[in-house]
Amino acid sequence: KAKANGKHQVQLFTEALNAEANYKLFVENNLRRALTQNELEVFYQPKLCLKSGQLLGMEALLRWQHPEKGMIRPDQFISVAEETGLIIPIGKWVVRQACRMSKQIAAIGLGQLQVAINLSPKQFSDPDLVGSVAAILNEEQLDPRLLELELTESLLLEATEDTRHQLGRLKSLGLTLAMDDFGTGYSSLSYLKKFPIDVIKIDRSFIKDIPDNQDDMEITSAVIAMAHNLKLKVVAEGIETGAQLGFLRRQQCDVGQGYLFDKPISGRELIDSLRRYPCRPQADQRL
Ligand code: C2E
Ligand code: MG
Ligand code: MG
Ligand code: MG
Repeated sequence: KAKANGKHQVQLFTEALNAEANYKLFVENNLRRALTQNELEVFYQPKLCLKSGQLLGMEALLRWQHPEKGMIRPDQFISVAEETGLIIPIGKWVVRQACRMSKQIAAIGLGQLQVAINLSPKQFSDPDLVGSVAAILNEEQLDPRLLELELTESLLLEATEDTRHQLGRLKSLGLTLAMDDFGTGYSSLSYLKKFPIDVIKIDRSFIKDIPDNQDDMEITSAVIAMAHNLKLKVVAEGIETGAQLGFLRRQQCDVGQGYLFDKPISGRELIDSLRRYPCRPQADQRL
């Protein structure tokens, strides 16, 4: 249809823009309510030690259960939450939920699991960010070593003196800082050394075509080797096949995450599966 004539294409384009604007408006109006009406839920995706197969922890991934539209994935609303500033209260809520989940798992004797939270750069514009993370850890009585924050490359790239200071304060609370989606932005490993980063997560785009894509395999093994030289731990995200797992294990990648092991699951499902397959990682096996 679209290629019938140029005029039609322009019309389709305009309609697409309108649809996008309407969608944004829809998200903006509904997201405010979502937080207060308990429509948001945190899902958890397990992270495993690739050497031992031991469960080390999980990543908190936000889900929105809209009463009419059903489940909405973060890619469809996080950017609007950032633009409107709603990411700040939502982000604090995620930190609290995640801390409670790790605490609850420990309380029922199912292990000391580290929980990772995604922070968007916008959250660093909140002068209260570090104070609120510290307050939540304290109120929920969670060992800070069990909390990991996943940051984006753009945060480091655009880091002001203020951001640098916030990262230093977060680090000195005793938590772990990870660089998410490594390789998709413009930062380099040497750049990472300027910030108190402990972990890098290789982006799924480098993993997905292993073992067919020779370049991706070379990039991945080089990144792992260089990260280890810089004393950084490496997580591979998006592992879906045994071949990918085998390759990453041979390259001594430390930690893995992906559909091969588990999709993101609700807190209840996580606890149910831990009851069936108990694991109790020791402190020295943690990431
Ligand atoms: P991310 O932090 O890079 O998370 C990984 C994404 O890849 C998740 O998508 C996860 O479900 C998906 N994934 C994991 N393993 C596999 C796999 O084997 N195959 C495939 N195809 N996908 C896999 P999700 O949950 O839709 O989240 C998308 C992004 O939204 C996240 O990317 C993160 O940047 C953002 N996000 C999620 N929750 C939050 C949050 O609480 N706060 C902020 N600021 N951002 C969040
Ligand atoms: Mg992440
Ligand atoms: Mg990622
Ligand atoms: Mg991502």
